[in-house]
Amino acid sequence: MLGHATNYDLLLALRRSFPELSITTIHRATKRLALRGIIAIALPTKDGSMRYDANITPHDHFECSLCGKVYDINIKDKIITTLQSYMNNYDISGRLIINGVCKECIHKNKENT
Ligand SMILES: [Zn+2]
Ligand SMILES: [Zn+2]
Repeated sequence: MLGHATNYDLLLALRRSFPELSITTIHRATKRLALRGIIAIALPTKDGSMRYDANITPHDHFECSLCGKVYDINIKDKIITTLQSYMNNYDISGRLIINGVCKECIHKNKENT
């Protein structure tokens, strides 16, 4: 499973088994799956491509600013009361996106130095 994928990621992955597949077919399929709630919509990529999420339960995301990979995290429930107390007790409705550098990239950077 790809976890988080753009239509283009899916095309590349699926073309191995279905060489005839077109990006239009993928677009249509993912749109339909998202409408039916079978897949969710995650945060877009840095270049603005829509990214789908295989995990449909509400969760937060960690996005690596070096490789652009997205990881599922679950921090909102743990920190929401703290956050709200700093924010006039506004009701926080969306999920959180945290940016940083993922373990793989930290590892790679260490190898290169
Ligand atoms: Zn990374
Ligand atoms: Zn996700």
